[in-house]
Amino acid sequence: MTDLPEGKLFVAGEWEQGSGAEITSIFPADGSVNRVLNGASESDGLRAIERAKQAQADPAWLNLRPHERARFLYRIADGIEANIDRISQIQTRDTGKTLRETSALAASAAGTFRYFGAVVETLDETLTTQRGDALTASVHEPLGVVAAITPWNSPIASDAQKVAPALAAGNAVLLKPASWSPLVSLELARIIEESGLPKGLFSVLPGAGREIGNLLVEHPDIAKVSFTGGTSTGRTLARKAAEKLMPISLELGGKSPTIVFADADLDQAVAGVLYGVFSSTGQSCIAGARLFVQRAIHDEFVARLVSAAERLRVGHPFDAATQVAPMIHFDHRDAVAEHVRSALSEGAELLTGGAPPTGEDYDRGAYYSPTILSGVDNTARICRDEVFGPVLVVLPFDDEADVIAQGNDNDYGLACGIWTRDFPRAWRVGRAIRTGTVWINTYKQFSISTPFGGEKDSGMGREKGRDGVRAYMAQKSIYTDLTGHPLAWAGGVA
Ligand code: NAD
Repeated sequence: MTDLPEGKLFVAGEWEQGSGAEITSIFPADGSVNRVLNGASESDGLRAIERAKQAQADPAWLNLRPHERARFLYRIADGIEANIDRISQIQTRDTGKTLRETSALAASAAGTFRYFGAVVETLDETLTTQRGDALTASVHEPLGVVAAITPWNSPIASDAQKVAPALAAGNAVLLKPASWSPLVSLELARIIEESGLPKGLFSVLPGAGREIGNLLVEHPDIAKVSFTGGTSTGRTLARKAAEKLMPISLELGGKSPTIVFADADLDQAVAGVLYGVFSSTGQSCIAGARLFVQRAIHDEFVARLVSAAERLRVGHPFDAATQVAPMIHFDHRDAVAEHVRSALSEGAELLTGGAPPTGEDYDRGAYYSPTILSGVDNTARICRDEVFGPVLVVLPFDDEADVIAQGNDNDYGLACGIWTRDFPRAWRVGRAIRTGTVWINTYKQFSISTPFGGEKDSGMGREKGRDGVRAYMAQKSIYTDLTGHPLAWAGGVA
């Protein structure tokens, strides 16, 4: 068994006990305690901000050329790759995710650092078309000190998605992971420290959102907040950001539609729908949680889906055969169960699941069985609220226009899956659905080179892709005189 990080925080380049409120990380497969640690207090945060400001402005960092900054990112990527087993064990203990998933997340985090190193090395600045007697250029500068606030569901991947482009852009970064999953972010700090990144440029400050999170958002020296988390938290943060006119990017919740047309390859669709909603035990912002099935195949498809869902292997996260692992925390499992209870009281029909699995393998863990509901229309609360658990609601639809209207009739706009053999139709529906990502005959596939983000209540801004680095930079225009003469307006008085 891998040793877990000790529980000290990484504040301004030093390992220290936090002086904020206590945080407990548990292993949700059996409720055992991984670590009890003190989170970051306001004074820890203030120290990290002050040191980050100095480190970011130090010519030793500020004057590095992009390809020189990239070297740190490559070293961090190497460090993550060399420690994939350790990182995935820690993340599995911290979150209950399967080792298979946490290994993939760790590998993707390494890829993210490598990608943004390569991007920053190869991004060009622009000479704009000259329209006068000046050479005109558009260049980009780092923002300064930025804060990254991340949720608990895929910590190493969401941490990397923010920290890598922010460092590549030449900033200092303060990372605040969620209180349920602090350990893997502290492990990332160890790897970043080993990369030789100058002290102070990176801190990890787990702790209560209301305390350390608030400080990071409100502090005048924080130039940007990159947030991933729930929509109501995002909205609160956006108000605070507006007050200080600070840029903020928001990756928020979802209630994503998946659409199965009658002409779809049904094997492909069953596998894709199951993976889309039940992988990560449904604790995924992009979970395809509203399933629309065309009426002609509705009953047949739903019967196949229910039977396949009942064959999914719910089990221990260290077991290689497990497909559905425990949820992050008992409190979260109870909140998911409450959503299901309330849907049933609103008249939903339970097709499968609806309770934790029973038996000694499950009794001590935060398990919940894959659950499928039907019998409600798209206005029911179970079709509106993000459950963030293994719960799917199935609805019938008639035709393209009907499913576009129902799919879009939701506050969220994160992702959509479309299953059909008719490519022009997939394209039309994909273009008409208001979500940041559309998958056609596949689901939950990611590439770091492809931008990601939401519409409507699912957020604003995009992460990933070459522009991901620009999101952490300020654009500047430079005019340089080419004439060598005083400006005519002064009329020779100069
Ligand atoms: P959350 O909003 O409760 O917390 C997210 C982070 O914000 C945590 O670090 C938390 O401590 C911090 N926080 C909370 N209150 C704060 C405050 N007042 N000031 C500053 N920081 C504060 O979300 P969660 O429960 O950790 O994660 C689940 C949510 O995240 C779901 O809604 C999910 O859809 C969303 N999510 C979105 C994406 C995406 O890319 N769109 C990805 C993963 C998760």
